[in-house]
Amino acid sequence: MTKQASNPQTREWQAMSRDHHLAPFSDYQQLSEVGPRIIVKAEGVYVWDSEGNKILDGMAGLWCAAIGYGRHELADAASRQMKELPFYNTFFMTAHPPVLELAKALAEIAPQGMNHVFFTGSGSEGNDTMLRMVRHYWAVKGQPEKQVIISRINGYHGSTVAGASLGGMAGMHAQGGMIPGIEHIPQPYWFSEGGDMSPDEFGIWAAEQLEKKILEVGVDKVAAFIAEPIQGAGGVIIPPDSYWPKIREILGKYDILFVADEVICGFGRTGEWFGSDYYGNQPDLMTIAKGLTSGYIPMGGLIVSDKVFEVINRGGDFNHGFTYSGHPVAAAVALENIRILRDEKIIERVKAETAPYLQKRLRELADHPLVGEVRGVGMLGAIELVKNKATRERYPSELSAGMICRGHCFNNGLIMRAVGDTMIISPPLVISKAEIDELVDKARLCLDLTAEDLAG
Ligand SMILES: *Cc1c(COP(=O)(O)O)cnc(C)c1O
Repeated sequence: MTKQASNPQTREWQAMSRDHHLAPFSDYQQLSEVGPRIIVKAEGVYVWDSEGNKILDGMAGLWCAAIGYGRHELADAASRQMKELPFYNTFFMTAHPPVLELAKALAEIAPQGMNHVFFTGSGSEGNDTMLRMVRHYWAVKGQPEKQVIISRINGYHGSTVAGASLGGMAGMHAQGGMIPGIEHIPQPYWFSEGGDMSPDEFGIWAAEQLEKKILEVGVDKVAAFIAEPIQGAGGVIIPPDSYWPKIREILGKYDILFVADEVICGFGRTGEWFGSDYYGNQPDLMTIAKGLTSGYIPMGGLIVSDKVFEVINRGGDFNHGFTYSGHPVAAAVALENIRILRDEKIIERVKAETAPYLQKRLRELADHPLVGEVRGVGMLGAIELVKNKATRERYPSELSAGMICRGHCFNNGLIMRAVGDTMIISPPLVISKAEIDELVDKARLCLDLTAEDLAG
């Protein structure tokens, strides 16, 4: 799919990849045959590869670059902090200014009543922290048997063993297994699994699976339910309108904790600070990462409600932490990222102007013969590739329609990700209307090229 590199340096780097680099989520044999595309620089919403191609990054890196690339303020914040205090830990009764200022800033933007933050190096570590914290919470409350966490098939909660176990990705469970005490329920993915039901009927059905599972496991055994407001890596799955209200109703009936994995939806992706704000959900804990630093430096965390804090506050030592929990340089970068999001009113602009425009323009692609559905919220979008628009029948998976489309996108200056035959986008929040036009026009061209390949 990738053309033979013309720049000799690209070929050198590709040889280094083949000889030494074990890349995440990659088939090493295939990667060494094709050679990775080498991304060398970025500015605004664009990246450049080592062959000199300028590419519109419709995925913001990996759902990360909320404020776009090339914001030197973040580099300056990192540089200042590295010179002042490059590292100190936050264990054993110490702290430093950036971590404290960041915790306070997050409490200001988080939903009402969520005022406490545990920092980690990544989203996966945030979810590991969550697992230990919710079990500890119930133990402190004198109900140590409440251990089970309910999550959803095809949810994504990271790649540590706890993260992958919480996630519902079969391919990950198959390698290395799962930790006990985690139960999965079906996802609210109407397009793929809704059959003859209307989206709202299916949303209710999917939500009721939570109640069914709580009763099957026993409410005295269930610690928490975790979900992404919108499933990202699973394929930008927007739940039917009926889903979250029904879930809230069920959570109201049973005494279990509600965890929102906001690693993708947080920091403005939906046009609100958090996906929970968008849906009017009230989680007890929220996992964050990605947009927290716009990906400029690794950092994640867990935002904890007063309700949970008041219990663990009387629980003695919380025996958990990472060397880099609250790393001062990462915290300084996150603070600067949040300052930019706030001062430049980036999320307000997404909500009022650019997200409505993106969603309107994306939906124009629904008339394409290859497209079965276009959906999206805020700066998230998905395009379903199908063989039959009426029946939602897909192409045989051996044809890899999604990967064909992804290849055309890359070769025509656009990054869209393929999840099976679902094309997804999550561009930087700062994308302009003209850049949205470019994105949608390129997407249509690549759909045409994909349709030609599939016909031929
Ligand atoms: C990316 C992601 C994670 C994992 O974050 P890492 O920083 O890769 O560990 C967890 N949850 C969701 C929803 C994600 O998208």
